[in-house]
Amino acid sequence: MAFLPVLAVDYVLDGYVKSRETQKLQAAVDAITHDSQIIVQDAVQALRVILHHSPSLCTPTFFSNVNAQLQRSRFVRQIAVENAEGIQYCAAYDGVVNYRALSESLAIPGHTEVLSVVELEGEDHSILKISQRFGGNRTVSAFVEAVPLVTRDVPLVVGNMRHLVVSLTNGAPVVLRGDAVDAAPSSNGDYILARSFAGDIPLKAEAGVSFETVRAGYAELDIGLTLVACLLGVTLLLLALQFARRSNLPSFEIERAIVAGEMKPYYQPVINLKTGKLIGCEVLVRWVKRNGEVVPPGAFIDYAEISGLAVPMTLSLMEQVRFDLEELCAEVPDFKVSINLFEGHFRDGSIVEDIQSIFGGSGINYRQLVFEITERRPLDDKDAVNTVVSAMHKLGVRIAMDDAGTGHSNLAYLQTLGIDIVKIDKIFVDMIRDANVPVPVIDGLIAMAKDMDIEIIAEGVETQEQALYLRSKNVFLAQGYLFSPPVKLSSFLTLANALKPQARRSNFGDDLAA
Ligand code: C2E
Ligand code: CA
Ligand code: CA
Repeated sequence: MAFLPVLAVDYVLDGYVKSRETQKLQAAVDAITHDSQIIVQDAVQALRVILHHSPSLCTPTFFSNVNAQLQRSRFVRQIAVENAEGIQYCAAYDGVVNYRALSESLAIPGHTEVLSVVELEGEDHSILKISQRFGGNRTVSAFVEAVPLVTRDVPLVVGNMRHLVVSLTNGAPVVLRGDAVDAAPSSNGDYILARSFAGDIPLKAEAGVSFETVRAGYAELDIGLTLVACLLGVTLLLLALQFARRSNLPSFEIERAIVAGEMKPYYQPVINLKTGKLIGCEVLVRWVKRNGEVVPPGAFIDYAEISGLAVPMTLSLMEQVRFDLEELCAEVPDFKVSINLFEGHFRDGSIVEDIQSIFGGSGINYRQLVFEITERRPLDDKDAVNTVVSAMHKLGVRIAMDDAGTGHSNLAYLQTLGIDIVKIDKIFVDMIRDANVPVPVIDGLIAMAKDMDIEIIAEGVETQEQALYLRSKNVFLAQGYLFSPPVKLSSFLTLANALKPQARRSNFGDDLAA
């Protein structure tokens, strides 16, 4: 869109040049035909005056009338009397007019005079001959210069002109400039053409200019307009960017938020149901806006995943987690930090390097890290998942299947993949109403996990009854609002500190083994 004005300049300027130059050329040929009318009318007038005042031809009276008209007229060069066979009886200046006819005579509509084109001996340009009959066999003719036709207005266009033709309406040329008539192209985009007729006089003028030549004359205007269009384009671009910003286009805003460090890790404690002690946490993202508003992940996580921004977002979270929890993890070697991954992480594979570069050599040991893969969305490329998971296992980090039982993986897949932890989803935990009433679905999930020697964490534990039921089934690790929602770092550290020192010393090491 921003480039449109620049592209439009050529188009608009072409149109403007065409219309302006066509007007100029038309004005020039109109001026020529207008002048030609005046010239021919002047000659007609001269002949009529001479004949009116001369009872007979070639007499002193006749010559005196002829001389008077030659003096008066700016255009008439000669006057001659001849018969139909071309035999000359007399001419002005005591001479003979030697000439060659170049065209037939054409009647001038509404007049008794006729018009033709001739060439005077010894001259290389055509002139007009206007003749009036006298008596039965004789004619009196005025020879007029046609050159004035093209001297007055033609300089306007002559520099650019490809051709200019003034001719009789039967096609006999009077003036030819530039390319010959045949070479003149028909009216197409490459030429600008104009044509004009001289009213009653059977004369016309046609001219053509090359579009390219006249267009070149507008180079400065072209540069100027292009500059203006560029400015307009930049303005449009800025407006569009501002619009994108204002309209909160999700991916645009998310990217900005990641760069600005607005994607913050919140921490939800994972509790040992047997001891009530803290054994670790799950990292859950929150978008903390500059105005203090805290946006939960449901509002943007799908956009982040679709737009590919989930990968840089996780990277930013992991860096913050290292900074936030390094001290705690170093102090409490069995403290576990669980981080959620996206399906995209398994396709691009760079997650393993990212884990190494962030946590390698940090106060957070690989053994303290758990990465969660959700079952809610399918993991299509099982080979890619296997490769990434085994590389992660090599590092010593562990893998949890999140939202187990709600999604796409079959249970056999859990084992093939070498899943270390299963997180029983809240929808199953919600089925527990009474600590003493069995919930077969949960019991089945628990039995299966224990069979496969997979650790269990129950999610979304909200009631005492649920905690009691799970504990009675030997499920000891849980997270949920019963203990704490995800909280920001400072609150989480306060909570962790409240459990120390004896809590850490006595419980952290045993809990996972329980
Ligand atoms: P999840 O991984 O299953 O996370 C557990 C969700 O349940 C969290 O929602 C948590 O706040 C909520 N929750 C925990 N205990 C309770 C409870 O007792 N009752 C109820 N009603 N809810 C509880 P949250 O934080 O809104 O996250 C929603 C989902 O967004 C997460 O589900 C996870 O799939 C995704 N998510 C959040 N942060 C990240 C992240 O950093 N990376 C990835 N890949 N996904 C994330
Ligand atoms: Ca999770
Ligand atoms: Ca979950």
